[in-house]
Amino acid sequence: MNLTRHDALALDAADPLAPLRAQFDLPEGQIYLDGNSLGVLPRATAARVQAVVTQEWGQGLIGSWNSAGWMTLPQRIGDRIAALVGAGDGELVVADSTSVNLFKVLSAALRLQQADAPQRRVIVSERSNFPTDLYIAESLARDHGCTLRLVAGPQDLVAALGPDTAVLMLTHVNYRTGWLHDMAALTAAAHAAGALTVWDLAHSAGAVPVALKADGADFAVGCGYKYLNGGPGAPAFVWVNPRHVDRFSQPLSGWLGHAAPFSFVPGYQPAAGISRYLCGTPPVLSLAALECGVDTFHAAAPMGGMGAIRAKSLALTRLLIALVDARCAGQGLSLVSPRDDARRGSQVCLSRAEGAYAIVQALIARGVVGDFRAGDAAERLPDILRFGVTPLYTRFVDVWDAVEHLRQVLDSAEWQQPTFQQRKAVT
Ligand SMILES: *Cc1c(COP(=O)(O)O)cnc(C)c1O
Repeated sequence: MNLTRHDALALDAADPLAPLRAQFDLPEGQIYLDGNSLGVLPRATAARVQAVVTQEWGQGLIGSWNSAGWMTLPQRIGDRIAALVGAGDGELVVADSTSVNLFKVLSAALRLQQADAPQRRVIVSERSNFPTDLYIAESLARDHGCTLRLVAGPQDLVAALGPDTAVLMLTHVNYRTGWLHDMAALTAAAHAAGALTVWDLAHSAGAVPVALKADGADFAVGCGYKYLNGGPGAPAFVWVNPRHVDRFSQPLSGWLGHAAPFSFVPGYQPAAGISRYLCGTPPVLSLAALECGVDTFHAAAPMGGMGAIRAKSLALTRLLIALVDARCAGQGLSLVSPRDDARRGSQVCLSRAEGAYAIVQALIARGVVGDFRAGDAAERLPDILRFGVTPLYTRFVDVWDAVEHLRQVLDSAEWQQPTFQQRKAVT
């Protein structure tokens, strides 16, 4: 491909979403391709958090639970996220972490099956699913007398469903490969086999269109600090299809999931609807930051919303793949992400037999921030170099420059310098 840097600049000049980048405070001189791990800082966040600290907390004190609407932040921000993932108002709340929410919904799914079809005792997932999802499932399987069946890849999922399957638990966009599962088809296959579905939207919410209700999904959780730009450790979200929500009260029966928390009665009565998935007191400062992150998507609405975001995301990942093919040929890189647009999330994952970690470090030293995900030879999972594109702020020229840096790092063998071999605690 003969696409030049000048062509990339022309794509930016013609990009209808280009003005959205001004919503963010981006460090000078960095190409940030890691918004799938930690989203960037919206310009509005610092002032908003400061106002919550100095006015709502500092001056309003305890009265702010009512007057500033603190108590209903989980529902209010939940409704805004619901609009991004194809769920309705009042169906989704913000709470806790993704791991904790997964515990709640997987418990609920297993309990529903134990009531309706007790012979179903298998949770099906992918071996390359994100570890926390597998660890939570392992623990719940143990407590519920179930087993976890892990398949090697998406092509094996349907065959793994059967009369023993209780739940199909998947991350909608696989974190290691960028593979985007067909939620509608897999949900239909799971339901045809009598199983329920649990979807983790950590790499989907704000990155790809999601249609939870239209696709008939049963349960979903997702992350606030990745594509939603909510800040480090931002609270996560949880959604339950209204057809199930009142059938079971999730096991973390804290007071804020109670029907009447302020009656202070000794017995637990779950709130109606999704509010029963709340547990303890909302983290108000974190929620204020998350709301600013979610707001950055709503600015895209007049420009075509998630449809336009997806179109740009695909154009960016297509460009990245084409440039790696053309400019890094013969350097031992393999594309792990699907070439098929319909199956690719908003990231491009590459593998290389040797040096994946060091190459990522060498790129970071040049100001190109992607990340490394360790493989496991025994599991036949390769080491991954991962580049996330985030259409609200990633430019075409960023992709062009990033691949040029990658080419130089490989051509010059710069990555072999000892300083890039040292593993840090957080990769
Ligand atoms: C990032 C991510 C998580 C993170 O879980 P936390 O509880 O926020 O640490 C969970 N699952 C998937 C698939 C992820 O990508």
